[in-house]
Amino acid sequence: MTKKITVIRGDGIGPEIMDATLHVLEALGAGLSYEEVDAGLVALEKHGELLPQATLDSIRRNGVALKSPLTTPVGEGFSSINVALRRHFDLYANVRPAKSFPNTRSRFPSGVDLITVRENTEGAYIGEGQAISEDGEVATLTQKITRKGSERIVRYAFDLARATGRKKVTAVHKANILKTTSGLFLKVAREVATQYPEIEFNEMIVDNTCMQLVMRPEQFDIIVTTNLFGDIISDLCAGLVGGLGLAPGANIGKDAAIFEAVHGSAPDIAGKGIANPCALLLGAAQMLDHIGQPQNAERLRKAIIATLEARDSLTPDLGGTGTTMGFAKAIASRV
Ligand code: ATP
Ligand code: MG
Repeated sequence: MTKKITVIRGDGIGPEIMDATLHVLEALGAGLSYEEVDAGLVALEKHGELLPQATLDSIRRNGVALKSPLTTPVGEGFSSINVALRRHFDLYANVRPAKSFPNTRSRFPSGVDLITVRENTEGAYIGEGQAISEDGEVATLTQKITRKGSERIVRYAFDLARATGRKKVTAVHKANILKTTSGLFLKVAREVATQYPEIEFNEMIVDNTCMQLVMRPEQFDIIVTTNLFGDIISDLCAGLVGGLGLAPGANIGKDAAIFEAVHGSAPDIAGKGIANPCALLLGAAQMLDHIGQPQNAERLRKAIIATLEARDSLTPDLGGTGTTMGFAKAIASRV
């Protein structure tokens, strides 16, 4: 039986890396079928809106989307499409793996294999209570943490550990200073942890976490944290393993999940056929895990690693002279 996936080809390098990714998925024989819909600049030109209803309907129907980067036009009246998608489907978990890969420009070519699970709907990013005094001298912002929001994100992290055979969950917080908000998150995390006795649980203050990540990243397995800390830490982790070209992410909710590359639409190299497809490919691997095809996800990751090891057809960002599709074919030949 084939599983239908919503595919959004996106803007800039989006269509190029999506073609490459679908080519590799084909070689994998994952038994997927695709429903292509528009979002972003392409949608604005074709349908007069950035996020057409048909696109939302498709994601809701299929429950799973693979999405290339989207450009949000700068200017009045356009808010981020990615944020709009997260809100619409209540995609509360932002899941960002960071893994060392060979032959990348990374400070940690081995030893890092961690996942950041970031709460995606509350904390400092609710946009409420933002005010600046009339004289422009005082600014305020409200943070909101709820038991429900904390519980579902921590539970997600532990369930992910169980499903993927990971051993440890670290709750990252600042409860010593942000006693109410971060305090509530930590309290709930401790409670949830007792329900997963087979998985090691520890807690770490966010500033120390940053230092530990840079000094001994191999000590981390799954990190779970609130919105703002997760935003910063997940980029830090992407940097540890060599940056944007290899960083995938997933936004997961109860009814829908969207898998993507962390990088943007890279207009500076769009249309040249030299974009690195690995981030979206690794997003596709997360998607395969999510839809119950962990063996195919693993085959895909192994093929990427083998291709990097062989330095076969690497794109310019990895120091090679290959093309997007050439790289994809090299990976496809190894799945
Ligand atoms: P957007 O406005 O969509 O966020 P951006 O240019 O601000 O686009 P990114 O697209 O994330 O931000 O790109 C930042 C830099 O990294 C650019 O120089 C881009 O060329 C490079 N880059 C991003 N993704 C890739 C990729 N997959 N392969 C090669 N280079 C990339
Ligand atoms: Mg950008």
